[in-house]
Amino acid sequence: MVMRQLAGRGIRDPRVLAAMRWAPREWFLPPHLAGDAYSDAPLPIGNGQTISQPYVVALMTERLTPKRTHRILEIGTGSGYQTAILAYLTPNGKVFTIERLPDLLVEAEERFRRLGLTNIATRLGDGAAGWPEEAPFDGIIVGAAAPRIPEPLTAQLARGARLVIPVGDLASQELVILERGAHSELLPRYAGGVRFVPLISRLAFTEEPSP
Ligand code: SAH
Repeated sequence: MVMRQLAGRGIRDPRVLAAMRWAPREWFLPPHLAGDAYSDAPLPIGNGQTISQPYVVALMTERLTPKRTHRILEIGTGSGYQTAILAYLTPNGKVFTIERLPDLLVEAEERFRRLGLTNIATRLGDGAAGWPEEAPFDGIIVGAAAPRIPEPLTAQLARGARLVIPVGDLASQELVILERGAHSELLPRYAGGVRFVPLISRLAFTEEPSP
């Protein structure tokens, strides 16, 4: 299926490739689209939202560098596909995932149960505020594009941890990886153009580092 494409497009981390091989993407799609599960494309999951393209999920996961014990925050659960891959990679840690649409969250929770994933905590709400009670996190991943990086997310990043987030508007977005260094400084890297649905938030975004 897409495994050869992932390797061909530069995904090298064997743990990430194993997680991609493990995750049954058809379980995260509406039944009539299950036949398309192994094409490398984003697909509609209802409520105007999309399940991310496998290559982009693999790329974001690789850049996040999740370790087995890591506590990861995810914004925008959507179908739960990215969440499941992160939970698989952090069996001795935990994934905290926030979604603003209740229908999608309920469906995703059902999928986590079916997959036997017990290291996931879910929350309904605005993920731009992060999850302060559980901070700091060893990694933060955002599955929707923001015009600027929400300040609460950088504030909840542990030292050495990375925030992976698409930054931009509907027309043009770039994948940004922001790492908090040993002296608490923030170091940005850029991983190319991407296309995500917008992060919808009532929080005013502050003037934090943007590309
Ligand atoms: N990675 C997901 C794709 C998610 S699409 C997958 O593979 O299925 C982006 C999701 O972010 C949508 O479900 C959308 O409802 C959600 N979202 C948008 N703004 C949000 C916000 N402020 N807080 C939490 N979730 C948000």
